[in-house]
Amino acid sequence: MTITIAKIVWLLMAGGWYGLRIPHARRSRKTPIARDAMLWPEKLRLSVSLTGLGIIPFIYVATGAPAFANRGFSPALAALGVVVALAALAMFHLTHKALGRNWSVSLQMRENHKLVTEGIYARIRHPMYSAFWLWALAQALLLPNWVAGFSGIVGFGTLYLLRIGDEERMMTESFGDEYRAYMARTGRLWPKF
Ligand code: SAH
Repeated sequence: MTITIAKIVWLLMAGGWYGLRIPHARRSRKTPIARDAMLWPEKLRLSVSLTGLGIIPFIYVATGAPAFANRGFSPALAALGVVVALAALAMFHLTHKALGRNWSVSLQMRENHKLVTEGIYARIRHPMYSAFWLWALAQALLLPNWVAGFSGIVGFGTLYLLRIGDEERMMTESFGDEYRAYMARTGRLWPKF
């Protein structure tokens, strides 16, 4: 394991995520929206997350900046990062498969929105966010730079903390007791048994 391989793995993870998302993004453009919470706080927190998980690490991978924040490279940590990156991609795949046309990049309710409680959603209610946390962790393990490595945890962490309450409120307003019962039998990021 070398720094170059670790950087390539980060690029493959970002590319793999994008590739998994393309068909869903295309379909979501065709599925009418019944309710949209795409207001400025949502746009702002999505931008913060994109900066931390995408833009800052991409600049580091492409140019090596910011060099002042370089840390020693650990092949063992980077190898662990590969495993976590694969787990993140596998989880993304499962979440998109289960959510289907109910997925949106932001907080939106589709027309005929169905509450998904099967597949990976059976015991975890925010598995796509679990997958993003895994991505952020993989980034920190793969990239030997304090800024580019940890920007994912800070960026996605900001989106997660500022969004999760709004999302659960929106789901409760839309699905009422069905969502309350679903909340009682699931964990947010970790399965509840
Ligand atoms: N928080 C979820 C989904 C993220 S995508 C996760 O982490 O897996 C965000 C969109 O998914 C929101 O617009 C919301 O309408 C939709 N959504 C979230 N949970 C859902 C569920 N259990 N069933 C159907 N749609 C859901």
